[in-house]
Amino acid sequence: MRTILVVGGGYAGFYTAWKLEKKLRRGEARVIVVDPRPYMTYQPFLPEVLAGSVESRHAAVSLRRHLRKTKVIAGRVTAIDHANRTATVRPAVGPAFSVGYDIVVVTAGAVTRKLAIPGVADQAIGMKHVEEAVAIRDRLLTAFDQASALEPGPLRRRLLTVTFVGGGFSGVEGFGELLSLATSLQKTSYPELSPDELNFHLVEARDRILPEVSDRPGRWVVRSLEKRGARVHRNAELLSARNGHVVLSTGAEFDSELIVWTVGNAANPMVRSHTDLPIDQSGMLTVRADLRVGTGTGPGAAPVPDAWGAGDDATVPDLAAKRAGAATVPNAQNAVRQGKLLASNIVATLRGRNPKPYVHHSLGTIATLGIGRGIFQYRGLVIKGFPAWLMHRGYHLLAVPTWERKIRVLAVWCTAALFGRDIVSLASVQHPREAFLADAELTPVPTAVPVHA
Ligand SMILES: Cc1cc2nc3c(=O)[nH]c(=O)nc-3n(C[C@H](O)[C@H](O)[C@H](O)COP(=O)(O)OP(=O)(O)OC[C@H]3O[C@@H](n4cnc5c(N)ncnc54)[C@H](O)[C@@H]3O)c2cc1C
Repeated sequence: MRTILVVGGGYAGFYTAWKLEKKLRRGEARVIVVDPRPYMTYQPFLPEVLAGSVESRHAAVSLRRHLRKTKVIAGRVTAIDHANRTATVRPAVGPAFSVGYDIVVVTAGAVTRKLAIPGVADQAIGMKHVEEAVAIRDRLLTAFDQASALEPGPLRRRLLTVTFVGGGFSGVEGFGELLSLATSLQKTSYPELSPDELNFHLVEARDRILPEVSDRPGRWVVRSLEKRGARVHRNAELLSARNGHVVLSTGAEFDSELIVWTVGNAANPMVRSHTDLPIDQSGMLTVRADLRVGTGTGPGAAPVPDAWGAGDDATVPDLAAKRAGAATVPNAQNAVRQGKLLASNIVATLRGRNPKPYVHHSLGTIATLGIGRGIFQYRGLVIKGFPAWLMHRGYHLLAVPTWERKIRVLAVWCTAALFGRDIVSLASVQHPREAFLADAELTPVPTAVPVHA
């Protein structure tokens, strides 16, 4: 029986394996998914995880629960030797081992782009993973608690200052959602703090934010954030964040307790440097329109036998675009559809049929900007505010995989609408022994009473 190895069980990998389970006949091939995380992260929910509107575990779709016929290996693929049809896997504990395969599917996604700016590595938190979203929310909630016990002054101002670096899609969504949480916290639960003490800074190097929408709706988003008290710094680069002191190229400087890094993606280092599969200048796998890895992405590119790729780690030709040489946008819309087609194409080739090319016409862009606020654009059609936010929720409820996830997410939205969001910081889970040790310090150690004969 042939072995299909899927490297990375995120959006594209999860959907490839899920569809393969449904399409493969008994005994036709076995599927293995390798991922260091035991779940697929539904990244579009991360901004709502920040804001406490989506429960963190509901943005994590368990691989073992939903891929019943697939072998799931918890580990990181550190190298792919396609000439010998072998991948090296490093588990979290224990020695590395090799996994042989007949067909490889490379869907390892991208990583957060890092820039060597002083202080960023020590201070900033990314926003690509569930644990980062949970930590950002807990930091904000903890900062509110700490600030409320202080007199107004520099420390209290720092605690109530939040900075997002990067005004792309995920940055703007996360910023809008966290601003919405902070504003409602101040109103409903922290009478000691005044609204003008909240300092929310969004820093963007270009002259506009949210490049996924056109200029006018982009300007509307800036105005709408500014009306809510936020400061949007355009044409501004972060020069330093040492010890939480933010210095911008515009001359602005301020202390910020929370710095969130949302400057976009870089190529996956494993794909870029540790495979013998072809990559382009940016370190992305070169994939043909039929999703087979190719010697290039154009129509004349030869396929690499038994190698497929999709999602954020691959350059896939965009046949729906009018521009020659255009590549599909790295987003979930494409990753899901590429994963599904990839499974159909593998099954087709196993049965001697030809694979089909990937063609997807964008469904438009939709972003949440916090509870009750959003923006949608499809070509010339722009919808703003509450209707766009409702559409955002509706779209993602339909899009999140499995009924079980949809029901869990909907239940949390309904209970939050009735009772509000949970506002307790559980940052202390990072240090569970602290409570235990602190208790031990207060409790006197019983000493043995000497017994005299
Ligand atoms: C905050 C945020 C919000 C977003 N919102 C939207 C949205 O509203 N709409 C939209 O269309 N897109 C959105 N996106 C983008 C979308 O989530 C990504 O484009 C999509 O997840 C890409 O899918 P993928 O399978 O290529 O990569 P991923 O989903 O990132 O999956 C890659 C997987 O590979 C694993 N992996 C990595 N390296 C290795 C290795 N060496 N070995 C084994 N496994 C490995 C990772 O653990 C991960 O599970 C958002 C992204 C973010 C960060």
